Amino acid sequence: MAEEPRPLDDLDPSLLGPERTAFFLDFDGTLADFNEDPAAVVLPERERRTLSALAKAADGAVAIVSGRAIADIDRMLDPLALPVAGVHGLERRAGNGKVFRAALPEAPLAAARARLQGLARLHPGLLVEEKPGSIALHFRRRPELEPQCLEIARSTVEAHEELQILRGKMVIEFKAGRATKADAVAAFLKEEPFRGRRPFFAGDDSTDEDVFTKMLEWKGISIKVGPGATAAAYRAPGIDAFRGWLAGLARRFNETERSTAARA
Ligand SMILES: [Mg+2]
Repeated sequence: MAEEPRPLDDLDPSLLGPERTAFFLDFDGTLADFNEDPAAVVLPERERRTLSALAKAADGAVAIVSGRAIADIDRMLDPLALPVAGVHGLERRAGNGKVFRAALPEAPLAAARARLQGLARLHPGLLVEEKPGSIALHFRRRPELEPQCLEIARSTVEAHEELQILRGKMVIEFKAGRATKADAVAAFLKEEPFRGRRPFFAGDDSTDEDVFTKMLEWKGISIKVGPGATAAAYRAPGIDAFRGWLAGLARRFNETERSTAARA
């Protein structure tokens, strides 16, 4: 059984020097608030500034690791463009801009799509989201339909073993590839500008746990945002506490940089 994580206040920020840390951040529930409609989610301006300041201080070693498609993250970060792992590791844009996409079987996704769209037609408020290599069934507007959503997930995977089911907050994903968020972080850590740095990862959902688990092996620093059992070493009580802490860290980096520049 995993130990209860330590409070985020116990994390000594001097362990996170910007020149020796590789920052990985989940997006929804970690940087941006949830919305009934995932397409309507916006990144608050302060968080955009925080990311920009972090990326500057860390020489670009800041990546978003999300269940969303890369194109979706780009749209929300605009005009900021960061390295991104999208669709839980199925696609990835490296620090040098090169994009990697897993080759995926289309037939099982098409079958899942037809079944999910059928369910959504029966139950207005259910939302079927198409992503490269994955289809997400959102039931945030109809939480009482969770049992039906789980049942369709069970029967779909039974018929199509190539599909993997991921459960998140008010969402079930039907994913056509095996890659995970942890695989994406591992790939980033082999490349510039992340290579040789200590990884840092913050996330709020069950799909972030595989990264938290790997962090032990990588001697990284992991933060779970919000309640729930976790393998992370630290916990922020909620998204606002985490965002405030991250903004403070970015401020601290900037001040250090300014005072270093003043001394030079
Ligand atoms: Mg999240």
